[in-house]
Amino acid sequence: MATILDGKALSEKIRAGLKEKLDRQMSRGLPRPFLTTMQVGGYLPSTVYIRAKQRACEEIGIGFRHYKLPEETSMDQLREAVSEVNQDSSVHGLLVQSPLPPHLDEIAVQRMVKPEKDVDCFHPENVGLLYIGQPRFQPCTAAGIIELLLAYGYDPAGKHAVIVGRSVIVGRPLAVMMMLKQRGGNATVTVCHSLTRDLPSITRRADVLVPAIGAAEMIRGDWVKEGAIVVDVGINRVPDASKKRGYRLVGDVAFGEVEARAEAIAPVPGGVGPMTVAILATNVMRSAGFDVG
Ligand code: NDP
Repeated sequence: MATILDGKALSEKIRAGLKEKLDRQMSRGLPRPFLTTMQVGGYLPSTVYIRAKQRACEEIGIGFRHYKLPEETSMDQLREAVSEVNQDSSVHGLLVQSPLPPHLDEIAVQRMVKPEKDVDCFHPENVGLLYIGQPRFQPCTAAGIIELLLAYGYDPAGKHAVIVGRSVIVGRPLAVMMMLKQRGGNATVTVCHSLTRDLPSITRRADVLVPAIGAAEMIRGDWVKEGAIVVDVGINRVPDASKKRGYRLVGDVAFGEVEARAEAIAPVPGGVGPMTVAILATNVMRSAGFDVG
């Protein structure tokens, strides 16, 4: 049986530690950290993710405000809303939830957020700082994956890490972090994507396999080396009449088959998702001047 990399339990521990740090440092005069989120339109998974972020903030004691803007919001209207929050000195983190409706230019929006408040680490300045190994903020999902691995004693150093997916949110920052000469890095990294030929022949060579694709149960048991460490990032909804909501969440790996071969595996749900939120909260506190270690 594989070890379960329990991101839910680890994130609870991280959040409890953050709450303790917040209470202690606020009593010494630091301002309450504050996160503002923005969502354009009503894409349901985004609403669910934002709720999880809100819950975590409230539990820790981080101030939280969510702006839900109408689907037809223009670039100019969004710029104005972002600019207002950029100028509000009581807000330490601003996150514009992706995906945005297709008429909005996602990269341009990422550039609007003041780099000092860009707790998602999407602004080119912050991406550049990450790239040179001097990050202002940790990219939330990538850092969550690395912290989860380290917490269970699986240091990527010297290992062959195969990341499936090259998105700006997950695959690309994770590849950089795992490659850098730093804690949680020093891996030999292979990045695969939709044009990669014979993907199973590459995933089978992974000591650490990180699928971040968005394709339900695509990675089969025989795509994985015996004894590999597997961190499943994908979150996919598959219809399930036995559930009240009509669907269940599965990852990018066929869990039963892969668990039988892996040494350790992060499940979906309960693996990377909660870790992402814990790192976001850490970033908001760091942005507000807190010592978060
Ligand atoms: P994107 O759609 O932006 O990226 C998907 C990546 O997978 C792309 O690089 C794409 O390649 C690659 N890909 C698609 N099909 C294949 C294939 N058949 N073979 C190999 N590679 C393929 O998604 P995200 O990175 O935003 O998200 C990926 C998954 O992770 C989703 O399920 C998302 O819900 C989940 N997620 C989970 C988070 C968490 O906190 N747990 C946070 C963020 C995302 P190409 O570049 O060539 O198109």
